[in-house]
Amino acid sequence: MTSPVPPHSEQHETLDPTDWVAFRARAHAMVDAAIDKMASTTEGRVWHEPPASLKAAFTEPLPMRGQGGDATLAKLTGLLPYGVGNTHPRFFGWVHGSGTPGNLIADIAAAAINANLGGRDHGAMYVEKQVNAWCRQIFEFPETASGLVVSGTSIATIIALKTARDQALDFKSRTAGLGGEKLVGYTSTQTHSCVARAFDILGLGADALRKVPVNDAFELDTAALRAAISADKAAGLTPFVIVGTAGAVNVGAIDDLETIADIAAENQLWFHVDGAFGALGVLNPAIKPRLSGMKRADSLAFDFHKWLHVNYDAGFVLIRSEVAHRKAFSERPDYLKGAERGLAAGNPWPVEYGPELSRGFRSLKIWTQLNEHGLDKLGAMVTRNCEQAAYLAAKVSAAPETELLAPVAMNICCFRFVAAGCEPTQLNALNDEIVVQLQLRGIAAPSTTLLKGQTAIRVNITNHRTQFSDLDLLLAAVIEIGTSLAPQFT
Ligand SMILES: *Cc1c(COP(=O)(O)O)cnc(C)c1O
Repeated sequence: MTSPVPPHSEQHETLDPTDWVAFRARAHAMVDAAIDKMASTTEGRVWHEPPASLKAAFTEPLPMRGQGGDATLAKLTGLLPYGVGNTHPRFFGWVHGSGTPGNLIADIAAAAINANLGGRDHGAMYVEKQVNAWCRQIFEFPETASGLVVSGTSIATIIALKTARDQALDFKSRTAGLGGEKLVGYTSTQTHSCVARAFDILGLGADALRKVPVNDAFELDTAALRAAISADKAAGLTPFVIVGTAGAVNVGAIDDLETIADIAAENQLWFHVDGAFGALGVLNPAIKPRLSGMKRADSLAFDFHKWLHVNYDAGFVLIRSEVAHRKAFSERPDYLKGAERGLAAGNPWPVEYGPELSRGFRSLKIWTQLNEHGLDKLGAMVTRNCEQAAYLAAKVSAAPETELLAPVAMNICCFRFVAAGCEPTQLNALNDEIVVQLQLRGIAAPSTTLLKGQTAIRVNITNHRTQFSDLDLLLAAVIEIGTSLAPQFT
């Protein structure tokens, strides 16, 4: 008898480097390039339009033979300057966090461990449990609440609303579907589109989400909410959830969460809060009282990658009833069975709280951010951003060339350039062009929104690098560009 031989001649080959000295040099080169980028992030343009050379570098044929480490490193390094600009102090578009250098180190550690946080008993799981405990503490949820680190508020919302939906249908929906039940929910016209998308994904249909009107401060009109619930009940529908917003996308409005919590309790409805960025307003003592109703929520969705500056992506869902949360997701086939001892211990597993099985180690960069900087300092950055938005609003109101378009609730200032002799539609086009020019010239990167038909220059400040002088510079540029372009728009 001859013993079997392995079939391949390349039997010792792996994907590891053959030359670890050369690998170490490449890795160090990338670390240096990354640190250089972070150290110079307050300099230069906010945004660079991706050049043709970059686009060409990523339209190559599928490599059947690899180009090797050095060529790959060169391409990676070439990408570094072409971010969206959110690491720059004058990035004010949409709601983006600005990241921290400490996250570089956390991401290297996470890559080295290469953990799968679907479950099992290993070091990374204890980091995630720590993040869970800290989240409950920050938002004053009971110790019995459950949570899950996810990619962002969009997914967090789906998980929260699925739990609400299944609880409303006694969890029969998990196997039987909706069975003709006409579930409806309520939110304001200012709510982020991810809530309607969650209704769509959950089979409720986006039309089942009633968009209640808002008051002059863009907050949900609670009298209209009561009326909408009564009307739906009278029509034989089944209300099951109210979604309040802590920091709405357009102007940062905070709904009257205490009254919404009361209405939810009176009607025995699930109370969900979208606090994607605004939930972190609790770290600002001046804002915290207006968010008091948030701790009464059945569920809260928020992001670490926005106002806590954890690198993309990192969001969280917090659910008051761990039992309801697990009942909505738990599904343990034989091959994923838990155990008392050994690697399959550590129950319950995160897989029982969300749709994903394999999950990366996002919680490490979250833990790193909180552990390195502490909540007080992270909170001071939140507070300063609110003060900066108020400062910009005061300057806008004082300048004859600009006009404030909404009250500043937190960290967002919406305003526009005004020019005599401009029709409303021309004024909208002018303000759109001012924002494009600010972006193209690399001066600053606000975005725009439409408020009561008027185009607003929307300045969102979730940026720990922004200085008050950056806002002076922004406003001066708006006035200069607006003044020079105005004649083309009259
Ligand atoms: C950003 C945002 C979302 C969506 O969050 P993602 O992390 O991008 O999925 C939802 N609601 C509000 C208010 C937001 O600002």
